[in-house]
Amino acid sequence: MAARSDGRSRLVEGLPNEGWRTRFAPAPTGFLHLGHLVNALHVWGIARAYGGQVVLRLEDHDRTRWRPEYEAALLEDLDWLGLVPDMWPTPSFRADAVGHPARQSNQTARYAAALVSLETRAAVYACRCTRRDIAMAVPHAPGVEPRYPGTCRTANVPPGDTFARRVTLAPASFTFTDLRLGPLTQAPWQQCGDVLVRDRHDQWTYQFAVVVDDMTHGIDLVIRGEDLLASTGRQLQLGSLLGREVPPTFLHHMLLVHADGSKLSKARHDTAIRELRAAGATASELFGVAAARAGLHETPRPLPVEALPELFR
Ligand code: GLU
Repeated sequence: MAARSDGRSRLVEGLPNEGWRTRFAPAPTGFLHLGHLVNALHVWGIARAYGGQVVLRLEDHDRTRWRPEYEAALLEDLDWLGLVPDMWPTPSFRADAVGHPARQSNQTARYAAALVSLETRAAVYACRCTRRDIAMAVPHAPGVEPRYPGTCRTANVPPGDTFARRVTLAPASFTFTDLRLGPLTQAPWQQCGDVLVRDRHDQWTYQFAVVVDDMTHGIDLVIRGEDLLASTGRQLQLGSLLGREVPPTFLHHMLLVHADGSKLSKARHDTAIRELRAAGATASELFGVAAARAGLHETPRPLPVEALPELFR
């Protein structure tokens, strides 16, 4: 109980001032599952408890994995769950019909402009290395991210040879206070090395797109799972290189795992919201199960969407 109330006071003390924004930013590359629901109940619960607004953003930057049926299902599941975003971002951001959420695939001009601005503040270079090249060049334990060894940094790869671009990271450490985990420090130049901003297939990378989007959307609080914790330092560094003056605050919540300890994935259907729905579950029951499995309340009693703020007060 003590740990829980400490966590609560860290949350309350660390929240941005009134009128702040957070976001729900799923990738339409599979069906929403209970892991997304844990994220959503943190996002909506904290926003509704403490005066924040929720922006919905579809992170469809990976065009090879995006599918229209996943996107349609995602919006429909949110609707069924009663999770209503407060805003899609500004009208100029929204290139398509009124009422549609922000999509990364509409934002390529914005990412290209951000790259030009990045080039005024840091060295950006063309890179020919594939993932495999890097994995072979850098000894690393299984499951550990290899650090990019800087192979192309001085190789003068002609920019016309590839779409891939990396940004040179200065040796710097970034300290931030996670609203659940407390103060943390990361040194991206040691952890991952120079960050890829666009890949060789001309796709903007998650790391770059998310930083540009969070700036564009005025996101003050990023609420996401612990699996993305290692990305935070590099996103702070990219944000600072792009001229973001006040970085967002972060809260990384626990992840749900299967009984065997493996991460929930879109490839396994046993926790997909639509399948649980089809089997007769109600939205309140699913919120209750997700909250209990995330350690937010003790037993999986049904939890109506209106009660989500109570989990965080
Ligand atoms: N699109 C990411 C996902 O679905 C979330 C990214 C983020 O919250 O920064 O896992």
